[in-house]
Amino acid sequence: PFDVLVVGGGPGGASAAIYAARKGIRTGIVAERFGGQILDTAAIENFISVNRTEGPRLAANLEEHVKEYNIDVMNLQRAVRLEKKDYVEIELENGAVLKSKSVILSTGARWRKVGIPGEDEFRNKGVAYCPHCDGPLFEGKRVAVIGGGNSGIEAAIDLAGIVKHVTVLEFASELKADSVLQKRLNSLPNVTVIKNAQTTEITGTDNVNGISYINRETKAEQHIELEGVFVQIGLVPNTDWLGETVERNQFGEVIVDRNGVTNIPGVFAAGDCTDEKFKQIIISMGSGATAALSAFDYLVRHADT
Ligand code: FAD
Repeated sequence: PFDVLVVGGGPGGASAAIYAARKGIRTGIVAERFGGQILDTAAIENFISVNRTEGPRLAANLEEHVKEYNIDVMNLQRAVRLEKKDYVEIELENGAVLKSKSVILSTGARWRKVGIPGEDEFRNKGVAYCPHCDGPLFEGKRVAVIGGGNSGIEAAIDLAGIVKHVTVLEFASELKADSVLQKRLNSLPNVTVIKNAQTTEITGTDNVNGISYINRETKAEQHIELEGVFVQIGLVPNTDWLGETVERNQFGEVIVDRNGVTNIPGVFAAGDCTDEKFKQIIISMGSGATAALSAFDYLVRHADT
């Protein structure tokens, strides 16, 4: 069996595996797609000490760093079940069952898409999902935020300080965000809120040049000219496969304490799949390191198992 088996090969998982391997213990990584979300990311400018990089390049750096260590990397393998017996067992889609004394879950998350024409075509060419990451790329430009929940309104407030103008498009007749956020939003001069807006298409040529929506009350088709669209209709953690075993919150995020400890002894979690509030590369790497050190601490205390 492994001492530490990491499920997920994004920044969080890579960090956890390196921290574990540096303790000289038997470490493995199972990843559906080594690299994770950063494979879909263009510019990264907030990974501190690296002024600017691109997602695929950072993913290659992660892989190189992992290869420096004696880590058993099982890429293109999907975990489908976790069970705690004498060991923690992870079943893969191909039927194989891996056993480990401890497991670190770092299966990340994915942004929920609106599923309209233009969304995929203009991804990283005006269509963005992360205001902390990509907000500054739209300095002085006009953007829309799709979604009027807490994350949408937080994004709109954040962006309003950077961009020229923000249009919030909400499908329902009311915003769902907390009233304190709505109040703050309404105090900003460069924000327009459009409710009852069913977005239909993100338009553009090389880059985004506008967004179309139908006013659900009047049925009128509208088009707004702008340079960027932030989709803020939810971040979905990749945790469905855990079923009822590991405790998760209402959003499906694995509940961890500040040391990455879950409700199951020997099972730890890190990064975007957890209930950590902020989802960023540097944060997932930090929590991966924390989870690995917690796993090591657990192994030392349970040397007999
Ligand atoms: P992920 O990167 O999501 O990795 C999850 C890993 O788990 C992957 O290897 C995946 O294949 C694997 N996996 C999932 N399910 C299973 C399973 N059942 N079995 C096996 N493996 C599984 N953050 C920044 O800090 N700066 C930025 O500029 C930035 N820009 C971004 C731009 C975009 C378009 C996106 C989508 C995100 C961006 N982020 C950015 C956020 C950042 O990418 C994430 O916070 C970070 O990747 C989280 O790392 P993670 O390891 O927790 O999860």
